[in-house]
Amino acid sequence: MKKNYSIAIDGPSASGKSTVAKIIANKLNFIYVDTGAMYRAYTYAVLKANLDPKDEKASESLIGKIEISFDENNHITLNGVDVSKEVRSNEVADNVSYIASYKNIRLFLVESQRKIAQNKNVVMDGRDIGTYVLDHADLKIYQVATAEERANRRYKENLEKGLETSYEDCLHNVNKRDYIDSHRSFCPLHPADDSIEINTTDMTIEEVTNKILQIAKERGIY
Ligand code: C5P
Repeated sequence: MKKNYSIAIDGPSASGKSTVAKIIANKLNFIYVDTGAMYRAYTYAVLKANLDPKDEKASESLIGKIEISFDENNHITLNGVDVSKEVRSNEVADNVSYIASYKNIRLFLVESQRKIAQNKNVVMDGRDIGTYVLDHADLKIYQVATAEERANRRYKENLEKGLETSYEDCLHNVNKRDYIDSHRSFCPLHPADDSIEINTTDMTIEEVTNKILQIAKERGIY
């Protein structure tokens, strides 16, 4: 039977994971899975239902009642509706780390993530892909960059998208999410023992991508 390959890319917010993961998936003709978008879609559903994201029990009440998946354009959907724009709002960004700290919500979303990766070649990015979701991934990358550089990237990205934020807001959000993501009790953000760390602070997207592709080649992934 043909083996399926998986590449896990983890790291803190705005470390460039999704940009790099998308390019690699494209080049290798693998499926790209943005797990952060799934946590964001869940958060959006909680806000839309007028529930408090800081209330674990209330937030968990949507488990099994909502469907989060990706459409044919790889856009994130909530109950079949494309919410790719909505999940990028400041309100979602401010609350997503609370939602992502709830174990039962994580288990609900991890089940879908593992299903997507079944029988397919995937590049999956997130916080716990190499340590939990795909702990047997063929290649595990842990991407980091300074908080200032990450805030700067997020700020520029928001400007391009026409979203109103200041650099200070972005820095505050990056630091807040780093703290919550790495201090939660279930599946906190940390590098897998067998991951390769890449510090992208002074690297271009092309340099990071080429580095990962080179390692993937050496490992016989393509
Ligand atoms: O990657 P992105 O910044 O879109 O992720 C949004 C949030 O979702 C993160 O700050 C983190 O709290 C959560 N997340 C997670 N585990 C993942 C992916 C994202 O906890 N695998």
